[in-house]
Parts: sequence; structure tokens; C-alpha cells
Amino acid sequence: MISPNEQQVLLRQTARQVAQEKVLPRAGEIDRSNEYPWDLVELFAKYGFLGLKVPEEYGGNPGTAVDLCIVLEEISKASYACAAPVQGQAIGGIVLSDWGSDEQRRRYLPEVASGARMVALAITEPEVGSDATKVRTRASKTGDHYVVNGTKCFISSGSIAGAYVLFASTDPSKRAAGLSTFFIERNTPGLKIGKIDEKMGSHGIPTAELIFEDAVVPEECLLGKEGDGLNIIVKSLGKSRVLTAARAVGLAQGALDYALQYALQRVQSGGPIAHLQGIQFMLADMATAAEAARCLTYEAAHLGDIGSPEASRVSSMAKYFAADAAMQVTTDAVQVLGGHGYMKDHPVERMMRDAKATQVVEGTNQIQRRLVARSLIDEAKRRNS
Ligand SMILES: Cc1cc2nc3c(=O)[nH]c(=O)nc-3n(C[C@H](O)[C@H](O)[C@H](O)COP(=O)(O)OP(=O)(O)OC[C@H]3O[C@@H](n4cnc5c(N)ncnc54)[C@H](O)[C@@H]3O)c2cc1C
Repeated sequence: MISPNEQQVLLRQTARQVAQEKVLPRAGEIDRSNEYPWDLVELFAKYGFLGLKVPEEYGGNPGTAVDLCIVLEEISKASYACAAPVQGQAIGGIVLSDWGSDEQRRRYLPEVASGARMVALAITEPEVGSDATKVRTRASKTGDHYVVNGTKCFISSGSIAGAYVLFASTDPSKRAAGLSTFFIERNTPGLKIGKIDEKMGSHGIPTAELIFEDAVVPEECLLGKEGDGLNIIVKSLGKSRVLTAARAVGLAQGALDYALQYALQRVQSGGPIAHLQGIQFMLADMATAAEAARCLTYEAAHLGDIGSPEASRVSSMAKYFAADAAMQVTTDAVQVLGGHGYMKDHPVERMMRDAKATQVVEGTNQIQRRLVARSLIDEAKRRNS
């Protein structure tokens, strides 16, 4: 694995301390109450975790993708859900820094870094998931504004966000070339919050429906030009995918740490279960999966940081590998605890429910495998021609 520099060693120490002292004691209660952790958002802003993708001139403390992965891994070890605000603000920072106008950056980036305006990404629709190029939400230009109609669903932080990165079609006749991306405010006239989902895990971070009924979006909200939408979403998701991998690594490590401690203390058959070979093999496989996922994740983040052409493919590999590792490791952690693992007295059942989300979000693991295969095939064809 790439060696961290001195600053990254310090960043990990700080993130670990914040996560273990402030996030971990709140994790179970947030899971049960399903309440958004505003107090932790404030804390993360204070430590600069929300501004890692915001340039210094706008109040951020810019960091690399590796830095963000370090912070997300440490927070997710304590609570996968509580890492969501850090990833959401990173996406906001990436989109605005890469595609925003001077005015959009000046106006919104300081609020992204401070957490005054939480950002949500609105792509998915009831009829459109994996193939986002088919979005039906329509933004029609009329004078100096767009009129938006359509419904978005499953939008993380949808009901608490102050702004949305909205993916819509400005010209359906052009298909994918007619897609556009907007940065819109919560108080957009004609935008209302619909159903808030009841979900398996990731409690505390609401996923919500956004309903646009003749919503009036000023033309200044457009990111880039009309038709840039797909490029913006593909490139931005390409950069944030590795962050989901880092959260999955954190989940796997958190579950392993807990199961190992439990196995040392739980006595059956005359001794700690950690001395039973069946348990040892499980712990070894869990540790190996977590470590392999970590190596691939930080490699992907590093490739992104140095602008390698391999970055996109390796980040897809990291996302699906780490998500599958998190699912396997958290499931095994429940098994190590036996019946106790199935009960809410221990955090491993929460971790297992949360891990499932990592296999679905940011492009399902099937879609990531498709992306990896397509990139391999394209490269082989180029070499053969
Ligand atoms: C907790 C949570 C948070 C979310 N947050 C957000 C958010 O913030 N913003 C947002 O826009 N969306 C969000 N989503 C939605 C998420 O991105 C979608 O659920 C995901 O993209 C899959 O779309 P879908 O659910 O419509 O499934 P579908 O696309 O209908 O897929 C169903 C199944 O078919 C498989 N499949 C589909 N196409 C292919 C293919 N070409 N090849 C192989 N298999 C395929 C999928 O892998 C899946 O197993 C969230 C979802 C969850 C669960």
C-alpha cells in the first residue's frame, strides 16, 4: 500500500480520535432514532473534514483523495451513516470547483466547507436507476430560467440538504447529449420534498423523494453548458466512487475489530472462542478481505490524485471489491458473535445492514464490474488494432 506522508499520519490520528470519542458513542442511538446528526456535522466542519474538496480561497482546507479516504475510513469504522455528510460535501466541492461559475463558487463553496449548506446529489428516478442517461426529469428553457418537472428518488440527505446537484434533460431529442446538470437551492419555487424512505440501514441519513412541479430554476444554476451534464456526472461520480470504497473499508475494519475483541472475551468449550480454529479462520479471512480492500482503495485514490488514466478503472474495482468485502466481513462478524451478533445489543448487525448499501450506491456492484470489463476490452481492442 502507498505510504502515508507525515501530514496523513496526523490526519488519521485526528480523524480516529474524533470518530472513536465523538462518533462511536452516538452511533447506536443515531441508528435507533434515525435522527440526522447535526451536532457531528458541526464537529466535522470544525475539524475541516467538510472542506477537503474546497479551495483555500473559499474557506476550505483542500486535501487529496487519499486524505478524504483516511477521514471517511476512520469515521465509518465507528458509523457508516455518520460519514455521509463528509462524502456529500466532498461531492459538492468537487462539482462546484470543477464545473461551477465564479459566482457559483464564490456563493456556495464557503457554505459547503462550513456545513451551512449541505449538498445532495439528485440523479435517480423511480423509473431510472443504473442507466442514468435515460433520466426523465425535464428542464425547459423559458426566458432567463428553466422550468423543471419530474421526480427524483432515494436522494441521500434529500430532506435536510440546502442544495442539490440536479441531473435533468434539457433536450430529450439529443438523448445523452441533451443532459444537463444544475446546482439548485432548496428553496427553489416548485420543488417539494416527497416521501422519506424507511430503509434497512444507513439510518440517520434520510433518503427522500424530490418532486419538481413547474419548478423555476434560474439559468445561472446551470453547471457548465447545456449538454455537459453526462460528462459532469460521470467525472464527478468517478472521483467520489473511491470514497464509497473507503467507507466500506471502515465498516469492514470496525466489524473485524469488534468481533476480535468479542472472540477474546467470549468463553465456550472451556476457553475463549478466539482459540477455536473455526473462529480463527473466519477472523483471518475477515482481516485479509479488509486489508486487500484497503490496499485497492488507497491505490485508486492515489491514481486519482496523480491524474492517472487508470484511476477510473481502479476506482470501480475498489468500489465493488471493498463493498463486497464489507458485506462479507460484517456478516462474518455477526457469525463470530453467534446469537448475540443478531441482537441490537452489539453494533455488528447495524454494520451488516449498513454494508448492504455500499453494494448498491454510486453505481451498483454489477455496474462497476461492467465498467471494469468495458475498460479492459476497449484497451485490448486499441492494442490489437
Ligand atoms: C441508501 C441509498 C442511498 C442512495 N442515495 C442516492 C443519492 O444520493 N442520489 C441518487 O441519485 N441516488 C441514490 N440512490 C439510488 C442508487 O444510486 C440506485 O438505487 C442505484 O443506482 C441502482 O438503481 P435502481 O435502484 O433503480 O436499480 P436498477 O437500475 O433497477 O437495477 C436493479 C438490478 O439490476 C442490475 N442491473 C441494472 N442494469 C444492469 C446492467 N446493465 N448490467 C448488469 N446488471 C444491471 C443492478 O445491478 C441491480 O442489481 C441511493 C440508494 C440507496 C439504497
